[in-house]
Amino acid sequence: MTSHATTEPVDGTLPANPVEEAHADVPLARLISSGWLLPTGVAGLLGFTAKFESAVSALQETLTRTHPTGTPGPSFLAPVMPRTHIERAEYAEAFPHLLAAVHALPPGTAQSTMPGEDARMPTEAVLTPAACYSLYPSMADRTLEASQYFDVAGSCYRHEETSEVGRFRSFRMREFVAVGTEDTALSWRADWMERCRRLFTDIGLDVQVQAASDPFFGPGARFMRSSQLQQSLKYEFVAPVCDGDDGTAIASVNLHKDHLGLRFAIGAPGGGPAHSSCAAFGLERIVLALIHQHGDSLADWPAQLGRVRHAA
Ligand code: ATP
Ligand code: ZN
Ligand code: MG
Repeated sequence: MTSHATTEPVDGTLPANPVEEAHADVPLARLISSGWLLPTGVAGLLGFTAKFESAVSALQETLTRTHPTGTPGPSFLAPVMPRTHIERAEYAEAFPHLLAAVHALPPGTAQSTMPGEDARMPTEAVLTPAACYSLYPSMADRTLEASQYFDVAGSCYRHEETSEVGRFRSFRMREFVAVGTEDTALSWRADWMERCRRLFTDIGLDVQVQAASDPFFGPGARFMRSSQLQQSLKYEFVAPVCDGDDGTAIASVNLHKDHLGLRFAIGAPGGGPAHSSCAAFGLERIVLALIHQHGDSLADWPAQLGRVRHAA
């Protein structure tokens, strides 16, 4: 997405406290004053009002109805996951800057004295960076009898460096995931690309579809970025989420090839490593795009939201 620096005070001095800093960002201040977002005082960490949550619920129902073969709705995954699973996915190698871990006092630490902050040690838990990472371990070290399909949602955390509107550290993601043969992953990806276009048209969002790459880190980063682009592994659905924004990724459709199948030793039905693909929807970003497009009154939003036709 395109980054937007937060608006700095005219005289260049920093705001006196973090709440003021949050309000120094004009689009953010507007979203707070019009009853959508709740500031915490820390950039990138927001709460959400009942009005915002009613939009999230309508969007979730719409996404549920968009599923081609029917889904009871998403399984809700934990906002934390085992460190060993994220290590096996090699997430920390690619995105060390985004991963955050839970630190806590070791068991048996004396209760009678107040230990210092540096007494907190890494635990076995990390904060989930994307919903689909919690799925692959459940299929690890076996061969699938048939391709598997998932509908999941969860809170994610990424230690983002910037905090323009729409780039939160804590946010929610809904994902539809396929794991199985190469053909399954490819055709499932193609179907969801088309389904996403129709979905966003139906809810009145004018999106651009763009080939994209992830912000890989480390020595191989440039190669990974260019090979992801060359192989068209990632497409983003881009729309403005606030005034002055010329495009933020509100959803992405990703082909992982056999990367995760190999990492988790998941066998495809019929042999070879499993291939996978996911369609990931950033719930807060889509709601922000809807607010930007349709205004502050939910009554003025398109009737199709919540009544999107079943995609074939
Ligand atoms: P970006 O290019 O904006 O950093 P991304 O490529 O990191 O996005 P994905 O990893 O594809 O995003 O995540 C799937 C979706 O989750 C994104 O399309 C977006 O809608 C949402 N998302 C990702 N990062 C954030 C964030 N920091 N805050 C809010 N939503 C996010
Ligand atoms: Zn995913
Ligand atoms: Mg990102």
